[in-house]
Amino acid sequence: MYEQQIEEIRARKVRMAICYDFDKTLSPDDMQTFTLIPSFGVDKATFWNESNALAKANLMDSNLAWMYQLLNYSRAKRLPIKRDYFKKIGADVPLYEGVETWFDRINQYAEKNEIEVEHYIISSGLKEIIEGSKIAKHFARVYASSYLYSADDVAEWPAQAVNYTTKTQFIFRIAKGFLDEFDERVNDSMEDKLLRIPYENIVYIGDSATDIPCMRLVKSKGGYSIGVYDPASDQRKKVYQLFNDKRISFYAPAVYTARSDMMKYMKQIIREIASREAMKTEQRVLELPASVYKMYNMYEVFEQMIADSSEPVTARDKKKIADERAALKQMIEGNID
Ligand SMILES: [Mg+2]
Repeated sequence: MYEQQIEEIRARKVRMAICYDFDKTLSPDDMQTFTLIPSFGVDKATFWNESNALAKANLMDSNLAWMYQLLNYSRAKRLPIKRDYFKKIGADVPLYEGVETWFDRINQYAEKNEIEVEHYIISSGLKEIIEGSKIAKHFARVYASSYLYSADDVAEWPAQAVNYTTKTQFIFRIAKGFLDEFDERVNDSMEDKLLRIPYENIVYIGDSATDIPCMRLVKSKGGYSIGVYDPASDQRKKVYQLFNDKRISFYAPAVYTARSDMMKYMKQIIREIASREAMKTEQRVLELPASVYKMYNMYEVFEQMIADSSEPVTARDKKKIADERAALKQMIEGNID
């Protein structure tokens, strides 16, 4: 009876999103430290100390502080930083073991489970550096800090400064499908059913305190968060704490090879999403006659109200209501008498 609707329900595409922090999650250090900071003849500890001191002294967002500090150095050293230079640096940013092949492996595994995966970066680092990296092509979007460039492509002013709380904004964008940074519809309320990617199908992977708001948000809405730690230093204090505080669903070393714990947990998550979505599909099919039955019952109440009312109702209207109710009954499978 509901063939076409059932077909539409079954043809529904299941999507999931995996969101990654970048620095110390996919790459072993802050992206600025590999080439950019040394190219100004300053060591990374000095640079970060200076920029943190600047933030503290001026009650400044720490990301705006390092963005300012980079521009300061570039002016002092007369080395204008151009968009292309950032991209070039990105190509040399080292990645953790297995990262380069991770995305294809995950996509394939998800496809076997009839899920389409989208990968997103949500990072406080520099968008242009990430876009220059070897893995850039795998991301549906890169949400990160970025500069405004002059006509000759020299970085002049921050266009986006992504910190730990602004990071959460992008989770809402991904769920609702309003992906552009300026799109204010991200604040519109949206029924769960209408979300482009349901929150339960979102995974967030990060390493540090700046990831906590995203980890919490995703996990509290039924999704999954994973905390990673550097496999070389094996420093696990943060992930133990995050796990005990129930901010993450899993923790693992930042190793992304086929036999890694990360792969194992991600496969489990994909299978769980697939089975939950399969159940949702069946429930939506069952909902078709059940929702008609609900309407049919409302007519029954309506007819009773008319019968009890002192207002005159014409025989024609009464018949119309009875006919509509009978038509609804025809749409309900099985015996409901
Ligand atoms: Mg990080």
